Amino acid sequence: MLKVIIALLLVGSAYTQDFSKVKIEREKLTNNLHVLRGMGGNIGVLSGPDGVFLVDDQFAPLADKIRAAVKLISSSPIKYVFNTHWHFDHTGGNESFGKSGSVIVAHENVRKLLSKDQFIKTFGREIKAKPKEGLPVITFNSRINFHINGEDVNVFHVKNAHTNGDSIIHFKKANVFHMGDTLFFDRFPFIDIQHGGSLDGMIKAHETVLSKSNKKSRYIPGHGSVASYAGLKAYVAELKKIRTILKKVKRKGLSLDKAKAKNPLAEYDKKGWGKYFIKTDKFIDIVYPTL
Ligand SMILES: [Zn+2]
Repeated sequence: MLKVIIALLLVGSAYTQDFSKVKIEREKLTNNLHVLRGMGGNIGVLSGPDGVFLVDDQFAPLADKIRAAVKLISSSPIKYVFNTHWHFDHTGGNESFGKSGSVIVAHENVRKLLSKDQFIKTFGREIKAKPKEGLPVITFNSRINFHINGEDVNVFHVKNAHTNGDSIIHFKKANVFHMGDTLFFDRFPFIDIQHGGSLDGMIKAHETVLSKSNKKSRYIPGHGSVASYAGLKAYVAELKKIRTILKKVKRKGLSLDKAKAKNPLAEYDKKGWGKYFIKTDKFIDIVYPTL
């Protein structure tokens, strides 16, 4: 009974999302590159005299807290807000930042998705179209560069990875990549198949990033802690292993329910991969039908 009550409380808290208690924490990667964590996707902050370049903006009720956290790093205004992809836990602050003068930039598919009401079947969640102020005003198709605060920021699109509109932001001098939700570090990733994502694309995105890396590169994931080169290499090897395991089960012709009953990813459960947002069964639900 107690277990049931605790489970209900946990489910309740995840859905009511009490933002008043969220604290924005800061991690310094270099003198002018920080990660902010509150609730939702990890935020990247490139600061300096040219204005702040912000990567992702979590949820709307957190916009003022994010502003306050940025102010502790830099007194410059937030000049650009870059959306790694369209999801609500990465773009929630758009309207607030757009209204206060930040220029929102994203892949062209992000603008398309944010312009209309959406529904994510996996979570049964409806997302309303954003008003004009919350939409990206600069969009691009395959790549875009920013030269700001002494940094060369090379942004490139990776196809059909977490969604159909993912960007990876390479801060060249810092040797850091912000990978958005193409990386859920040390946990099962959510893949938005309905909006163009795929496991193959996730793996390919990791390999593309590794090919542009060196052993000292670091990676800000959409969710999870900052990864090292060795960490990302090991993670993509695990994703490939998972793909092989699930394909093997699928080749036996097992239905989704029978496949889950076999618990083919038990070793990842043991490692703790299923204790976050995407549980082991949910991950199989999402990926198995696509293999
Ligand atoms: Zn996402």
